[in-house]
Amino acid sequence: MASALCLAEEEMDRKQIEQMARECGFAKMGVCSPSAFEQARKRVEQQPPLAERRQLRFDPAEECPWTTGLLVLLWPYCPAPLPSQAGEVFVDSYYPASHAAYHASRALEKRLRDAGYLAQANVAYPAKEAAVRAGLGILGRNSLLITPEYGSRVVIILLATDAIRVNPREDVQREGNCRGCGRCAMACPTGALDENGMSHPERCLRNYMMEGIVVPESVRPLMKRKLLGCDACQRACPMQTLPNQPLDWTVHLDDLTQEDAAFSRAVAQLGNRIGRNAARPQRVRAQAALLCGNAKAVRALPALRRWAESEFDAVREHARWAIDQIEAVHGGGSGT
Ligand code: SF4
Ligand code: SF4
Repeated sequence: MASALCLAEEEMDRKQIEQMARECGFAKMGVCSPSAFEQARKRVEQQPPLAERRQLRFDPAEECPWTTGLLVLLWPYCPAPLPSQAGEVFVDSYYPASHAAYHASRALEKRLRDAGYLAQANVAYPAKEAAVRAGLGILGRNSLLITPEYGSRVVIILLATDAIRVNPREDVQREGNCRGCGRCAMACPTGALDENGMSHPERCLRNYMMEGIVVPESVRPLMKRKLLGCDACQRACPMQTLPNQPLDWTVHLDDLTQEDAAFSRAVAQLGNRIGRNAARPQRVRAQAALLCGNAKAVRALPALRRWAESEFDAVREHARWAIDQIEAVHGGGSGT
């Protein structure tokens, strides 16, 4: 945490901070005031307590009372094509981008602190609402920020600081709505989205991926080949602007169903790309088990049978389910 004492006597020029943000790798920066996010607080309080929202905070005055402005930093990314090779699994490009943006934000935080200001990167206020307040885009029916430059393919990072002062009256709202075409709702495999927007956030697949929880049986087949991330609603949206670009690495189901040393290597490689916190071994294993079941992967049966005795509930339950899926197609003696 930053110390409670600001050493610099004057606020910085916004252009100076923008330049720093660019040098750290961010494509665009906006600013908004540290006013409490009351509308978002009310909305979240009325919704199911999803894991990603448990960390959310709503009032900078409570968390970082020295904050005089929030930097809203955008890190765009190109979507990866869906896997085409047998055994390849899908990792949404958002996750490696988010990992890179996290480190960039820590670099910017350090530069601001070195210049004598208080700064705290990755503060957990509602990022999309802050971006709208900063005039960077609008909220689409898919509940995501849609920017004119990058569509919705952006990681949003918030950085609290006293290096810039933004008054509430300087907060802007970009005018406009998304096209309201409903393609995102039609593409959503779970019904999380409907004509009113994100009506059932608790149904979104992302809430179940690599969370270390036992995924409801009705949701498991909908994961298909997705190890992390869904992206179906964004793929369908006509307001995207960035082209597909393959990741320069791939993940194969075979690598995730190896014996311990090879599995650890595969997980370490994944962790290097998306962050070790996101790629925790038992969570990766639990998700890989579901994908084995969806792929009816006979070759994975030896691994699944070991995992079926795991002390981790999600690994054990998913492995047992996957074995049933495979044996229903290939027969009970498969792989023995
Ligand atoms: S990410 Fe997938 S499951 Fe979630 S709302 Fe979009 S399409 Fe639906
Ligand atoms: S798919 Fe259509 S309705 Fe959904 S966010 Fe994009 S423009 Fe809006």
